[in-house]
Amino acid sequence: MDHVVVVGAGLAGVRSIEALRAGGFTGRITLIGEEHHRPYDRPPLSKAVLLGETDSTVVDSDLDALDVRLCLGTAAKGLRDGVLETTEGELEYDGLVIATGATPIRLRGEGRQHVLRTIEDALTLRERLVPGARVAVVGAGWIGAEVVTAAARAGCAVTVVEAGESPLAVALGPAVGSHTTDWYARAGVELRLGAMVGTVDADGLTLMSGARVPADVVVTGIGVRPAVDWLKGSAVRLDDGVVVDEHLRTSLPNVVAVGDCANWWSRRFRARLRVEHWDTALQAPDTAAATLLGEGAVYDPVPYFWSEQFGHMVQFAGHRDAGDRMVLRGDPRRDPKWSVCWLTADDRLAAVLTVDRPRDVVQGRKIVESGRRLDPLRVADAAVALRDC
Ligand code: FAD
Repeated sequence: MDHVVVVGAGLAGVRSIEALRAGGFTGRITLIGEEHHRPYDRPPLSKAVLLGETDSTVVDSDLDALDVRLCLGTAAKGLRDGVLETTEGELEYDGLVIATGATPIRLRGEGRQHVLRTIEDALTLRERLVPGARVAVVGAGWIGAEVVTAAARAGCAVTVVEAGESPLAVALGPAVGSHTTDWYARAGVELRLGAMVGTVDADGLTLMSGARVPADVVVTGIGVRPAVDWLKGSAVRLDDGVVVDEHLRTSLPNVVAVGDCANWWSRRFRARLRVEHWDTALQAPDTAAATLLGEGAVYDPVPYFWSEQFGHMVQFAGHRDAGDRMVLRGDPRRDPKWSVCWLTADDRLAAVLTVDRPRDVVQGRKIVESGRRLDPLRVADAAVALRDC
């Protein structure tokens, strides 16, 4: 293999290059990125950048030392056998890494709506989070909650419109999500649950019910879609992202996919997973690079992510199914530090969510990995370390 092209200059793209070089690849590498920036980290965009603590989150990676040809401001448009079509012309490759991430979903309507995906999005929104500004955030998911945290801290008058029964209902289910409702109230934020937005207008939101939410700033945080439209019509199989096997191989030879856009087969959970979180973009490239270099690596992690909201560190490890039963560790109504474990029918740990209990997530992730059984009564006792359950 002489020439590997990496499409997408985000974390998964840059990590793929590092992994290829670490794996001994000495051929040419070209990095194609639609944005005009060197690869940067996105988690701080909704945290330190919005809070005004930093303006740059560039990934600490020496692309010059990695001997990469960098094509920024260049978008991939299509793929044929061995040829990548880009806005700047065609490029032949022997190996290809697809790492094009995801794009925010927008609401209908003519009014201005902010989304949060790029550094420009974050810097533009930050300027508008001024004391007294009426901010309407649509969606009380991970990004929504972090935007609300920053907006409330900036002194804005914040209203959140959420279609579900509770914050984080899609990610965690309403029973767990409802334990975070109080965080909104304490931050002085109005939370409207079970409310669907019809349109974004010049002066706020119109809900499906006809009710109006006046706002100076509208932020839409209702999820993302894998950025794979450019692959439509190619031989790469798409289904909620790029379909890859446990080696991160696509349906085309010598083409792998990683990060937010990859939908991989998990041996461990016997399910297809597409995980839109930082740790996946960080780790999966090791397997993708090994696959391109002809090694038999398998990607089978216990997914992990974190979120910082309302002064809490929220962490999650594992993969939960609708049938798993929930066991609370601690009482969220009295104790600010609590966890939830999801146990399978035969008492194995499927997933763990922790609020300011970092030990539970570290130990829980290892237990999910080991696949061992737990004693549910001990799990329910927050005083017993999870590793001793
Ligand atoms: P991306 O970072 O999206 O990079 C993909 C790159 O590909 C982009 O630069 C894009 O412009 C480019 N691209 C797209 N299409 C093309 C094309 N056709 N041609 C060329 N280039 C293209 N995760 C956590 O675990 N914890 C957090 O607290 C957390 N906070 C987050 C906060 C924000 C605001 C955001 C947006 C994400 C957050 N995440 C968090 C998720 C995490 O940042 C992502 O999972 C990670 O960025 C995915 O990396 P990626 O390289 O797959 O995709």
